[in-house]
Parts: sequence; C-alpha cells; structure tokens
Amino acid sequence: MSHNVESTAFRSAIEVIRAVEPRVADAIGAELADQRESLKLIASENYASPATLLAMGNWFSDKYAEGTVGRRFYAGCQNVDTVEALAAEHAKELFGAAHAYVQPHSGIDANLVAFWAILADRVESPALKKAQVRQVNDLTEADWFALRRELGNQRMLGMSLDAGGHLTHGFRPNISGKMFDQRSYGTDPATGLIDYDRVAEAAREFKPLILVAGYSAYPRKVNFRVMREIADSVGATFMVDMAHFAGLVAGKVFTGDFDPVPHAHIVTTTTHKSLRGPRGGMVLCGPELADQVDRGCPMVLGGPLPHVMAAKAVALAEARRPDFADYAQRIVDNAQALADGLLRRGATLVTGGTDNHLVLIDVSGYGLTGRQAEQALLDSGIVTNRNAVPQDPNGAWYTSGIRIGTPALTTRGLGTAEMDATAELMHTVLTQTSAGTGPDGAPSKAKYVLDPATAESVGKQAADLLTPFPLYPEVELG
Ligand SMILES: *Cc1c(COP(=O)(O)O)cnc(C)c1O
Repeated sequence: MSHNVESTAFRSAIEVIRAVEPRVADAIGAELADQRESLKLIASENYASPATLLAMGNWFSDKYAEGTVGRRFYAGCQNVDTVEALAAEHAKELFGAAHAYVQPHSGIDANLVAFWAILADRVESPALKKAQVRQVNDLTEADWFALRRELGNQRMLGMSLDAGGHLTHGFRPNISGKMFDQRSYGTDPATGLIDYDRVAEAAREFKPLILVAGYSAYPRKVNFRVMREIADSVGATFMVDMAHFAGLVAGKVFTGDFDPVPHAHIVTTTTHKSLRGPRGGMVLCGPELADQVDRGCPMVLGGPLPHVMAAKAVALAEARRPDFADYAQRIVDNAQALADGLLRRGATLVTGGTDNHLVLIDVSGYGLTGRQAEQALLDSGIVTNRNAVPQDPNGAWYTSGIRIGTPALTTRGLGTAEMDATAELMHTVLTQTSAGTGPDGAPSKAKYVLDPATAESVGKQAADLLTPFPLYPEVELG
C-alpha cells in the first residue's frame, strides 16, 4: 500500500470525527504528535502497524458475536466468524499451538479465562461427574454449595511482584488474589535469578493447583521445561503468562526450553506489547483445555470485540512474516546494547543485564527513588516507568527501579548505536539529578532537583536521536 493511501485513510477518518466532536479529533492528532516526539522506553508499549490500526476502526464494532466460530448465540455472524477463525489460525501456526482463543479483551481477561478453564477442568468437572449430572444447573443446592466452596479453596504459586511477577498472578489487590490462596516464589537475592530448586521446594510444600510463570519486569529467560517438570512433580497445571515477551516467542528468539508453548498446559498473552498488535489478549492451549477456554465469553468476558479480532488477524499475519523474526532479534540486541551502555557508565542493573526486551535499573546507586528518576527522565524527554526491584526498600509506589524496554524504539528503527546514545542521555540525567527535600527539610522520596538547562539539553538530544526514524511516516495529518 502506498504511503499516500494510508495518510488519506487516517486524515479522512479524523475529518469525519471532527465534524461531530472536534476535541476528539484534536486529541487524536495531539497523541500522534506526542508519540512522535518521545523517546519511548516503556517496556510494555509498542507501535502497531497502520493496517492493524485501521482494521479496528470500522463497523465490526457494531456486531454482537457471543459464542465461538460457527456456534453463535446471535444470527448473522458469518463475517465475524471469518476474522475470528483467521486470527486463531494465524495464532496456532505462529506459536505452534493446538488451540487459540482470540476473544480476550486484554491480558488480565486472558488470565481470568485461563484460571476458570483450569478450575472448570480440575474442580468443577470432577464434581459434576461425581454427582452424575451434566451441568451445574442440575446439581442439588447442597452439591452446588459444596462445589462453590471447593472452587474458592484452590491454590496458586506464582512469581512474586517485586521479583517481576504480575498482579494477576494471585495478588490481593487483584481478583486472582481473592479467588486463590496464593504463595509466591522470588529470585535469588545474590544473582536476581529464578532459583528453580527453591520453586520446586515451594511447590512441594504448598501443592498448588496452578503453577504460574511469566513476568512484567524480569530481564531474563525462564526455563519452561524445568518449570513444567516442577508442576508435574506436584500435579499442578502449568500456566505461562507471556504477555510481555510473546513477540520474542513469535519471532523465534525464545526457542526450546525457553518457548513456553510446548511446555505449558495453557499460555496467556496480550497482543499489544512485544507482539505489536492491537490492544487485546489471547489464550493458547492443548486439546484438553480447549472446550473450557472457549467458554471464556460469557463466563468471564463480555461480548467479543470483532473489530479487535480483525486487527489481531492482521497483526498475527504480520508476525508470521520472516521480517518479524528479524524484528524480534533486534529488540533483544537493542536491549543488550542499552544494558551494556548503562553498565559501562556505572549503572547497577538487576541480574546484571538482560536476555530479553527489558532492563531493570536499580537507581538507588544514584541516590534516587524510582519515582524521582522517572520524573527527571520524563522532564528530559525520556519516557520510562518506575518499578520495584527485588526486596525494594521503597515499596511499590516510590520504588528503587526504572524499567526500560526496547520493542517500541526497535519498531521505529533505532539500532544499537542509538541505544548507546540513549544510555548516555540517561546517564547524564541520572547523575545530574539529586534527591530533594520536603517542606520540613526532611529527605523526600518524590521531590528532586535537576537543572532545567540540563533537562532541556537532553530533551533536544533525545529528539535529535529520533529525527532519522519517523513514527508512522506514512501518516501526514497536515
Ligand atoms: C501487561 C500484563 C498483563 C495485563 O495486560 P492488560 O492487557 O493490561 O490487561 C498481564 N500479565 C502480564 C505478565 C503483563 O505483563
């Protein structure tokens, strides 16, 4: 497609919107301008292709399609069937999975679908069988009461939050923590790495129904073969949440023991992080859990979003092209160049480096909290997010870490030389920023001091770094 066509498509769409609510049209334009100008190092973000974005903006949004392909509760779903089947087919081929469920609206939703599929398979189905009935409506009041208690009395073992795990892996503020009795495994304090012997020990003691692997802030590979062996040794269902690193699996950077799909009973993911698709989620599994997974809507999900499934089909088709593997490798090369650049300039990195798309800097060495560092970098045109480090003394709000990731900048085309330049800019900001004090003169975890001239100069250099790599070059809003 020529650049001209894409530009015309987005311009026309914005004009149509402008005629109804100009402030929305303006905000859409402003968002593009902001994204173009910022050096985006948010590890969970990316830039989807124009084709993926355009697949979402249409009348597929108008359709109700509860059910699954060919088995809908609504009439007239033949075109939704086409895109849902395509998205699932691409996902199965791309990841080598027996079954793909592409309806989840987000990563959290995908996890809920997976949890309930496992609970249905391992707790509800045996109870129905025992009571010799086909479905829950046929249970007596007493059996139903007992089953509900049983469903609410299951255990999950997942990675601890401060070691890089995710809130949805059984932590109290999330519904998963209210559903499950949860324990977590951490990382070795000396190396920052997962200690598989400790995970095995925790599994033996705790006997979880579900063992969860996957993370949002762990900069290393996970050996899923070993994790599966641990799960098998205690009869647990092994679930992997690959929300962050799905792009590295799709691009065959993570293979063998590090590819979760052949080892896990069930895999969940987002589609918008390193996978570079629309905002959404997905579940992959073998034939054993497929029927339960397909009950995701209306079990825990609202009606499917056909426009987003259309965009998933487009993005997954893109991820099946050979150049996606090249992209995935460049994400990791860039993360390693960024890590090396920071290390050479004296930074402390959790685990001492990275072998995926993200780097976790411990900023306590600069005398800063994560929050101070995040804000000082933002003032200087560098967008990151603060993140707890293992055993973080500053807690989950202020933190002692900065998490950075390379999927987005790699999509723009930046390479290892630009990563080194980025490390230099970050080094300048972090060494030039000092912790501020509160009104009473006491040290503050939020206030900081950075010479505005330094912030401005770094911001200018960050913008210069981006100039040769225009974002959505095919889109001119004019
Ligand atoms: C981002 C993330 C999620 C949540 O995804 P949403 O689409 O925001 O719901 C779940 N699990 C992990 C590991 C993640 O990194």
